[in-house]
Amino acid sequence: MKPNTDAEDARRSRRAFLKALGVGVFGSGLAAGVLVRAWRPASRVLATDETPDAGDVPDAGDAGNAAAGSYPAYLALHASGELKQRAEALWDRMRTCTICPRACGARRLDGARGFCQAPGDRLVLSGASAHFGEERPLVGRRGSGTIFFSHCNLRCVFCQNWEISHRGRGSGHSLDDLAGMMLRLQDRGCHNINVVTPTHYLPHILKALDRAAGRGLRIPIVYNTSGWERLDIVRQLDGIVDIYLPDIKFADGELAERLAGAPSYPEVTKAAVAEMHRQVGVARTPDDGVMRRGLMIRHLVMPNQTADSIRIMEWIAETLPLDTYINIMAQFSPHFQAFNHPDIARRVTREEYRKVVQRAQALNLTNLDTRTLWWR
Ligand code: SF4
Repeated sequence: MKPNTDAEDARRSRRAFLKALGVGVFGSGLAAGVLVRAWRPASRVLATDETPDAGDVPDAGDAGNAAAGSYPAYLALHASGELKQRAEALWDRMRTCTICPRACGARRLDGARGFCQAPGDRLVLSGASAHFGEERPLVGRRGSGTIFFSHCNLRCVFCQNWEISHRGRGSGHSLDDLAGMMLRLQDRGCHNINVVTPTHYLPHILKALDRAAGRGLRIPIVYNTSGWERLDIVRQLDGIVDIYLPDIKFADGELAERLAGAPSYPEVTKAAVAEMHRQVGVARTPDDGVMRRGLMIRHLVMPNQTADSIRIMEWIAETLPLDTYINIMAQFSPHFQAFNHPDIARRVTREEYRKVVQRAQALNLTNLDTRTLWWR
């Protein structure tokens, strides 16, 4: 899309976003921090008086456009009881927690909190709403049903949502609350359930998903992750997740350690993303413009780190199909502790962003989402 058109979209989106502040599944309970997180370019929040079109939520058994298996994926495992079994097995792993690559061993079911600070017996959410700032094939006409989880197992010094991720801002909820949110987002017409920063609450999410499926949930699950996931855990999601939406943040371990406290990030994430691709394949947008299955990678270009970005593009080109969906994002802004790191204490230049995109194009990567170019 042309930059000037995108700029107009963005202005309209800002006006719509401000108009719709406070509207979501939590209603007036939405925290301001969530709204900050929810806003992105070309975003819009569904106003209370907007009614979704009927007929877009598939009945059970609707084949949709799934490349393989049933749509959404989790229905078959719910029907067989395996979804419940996998949720229970993951729940058990919180006894001495190994849910994420941090593997800190916290006894979450006894009330202890580990590195991520997430509780075990309940979950903390910062908000849920129809979100219009995600990738367009996820947003469609009626939004992505986004649920934002508090806490995080990474410590990115540039985190724009640090109060939610690092400080745990949010409110406690039960599994039934979470299942109810999923169903309300579906009732509202959202095209999918988009779980954001889900890793440390995966046992809770699977239990709630099983309950929601039993009560009529029929829209795809989007697993919206930092990418830093254990391979054995991602394997447990085979047949459950329809759309994987991982970041690939860093290619260099020292950079990942300095900026996110996770030196294993590059290798762990590459293995996880390859497994995600094996499960769901290339994300190809169907004729109606609404994605229902596939791998959608995000990469945020950072100031002075174009060499790292290019290593990521090269890895994708060498490892995954050349039409793998990649959203190359330009909207880095030095939040939180980024000013303690002079090399990232500014925004990305247009030249830096273009350099990464041009390298991706030279590698014959064909499915690039570069709409954030308008940002600067
Ligand atoms: S999910 Fe949290 S408690 Fe569990 S291993 Fe990771 S950081 Fe530790």
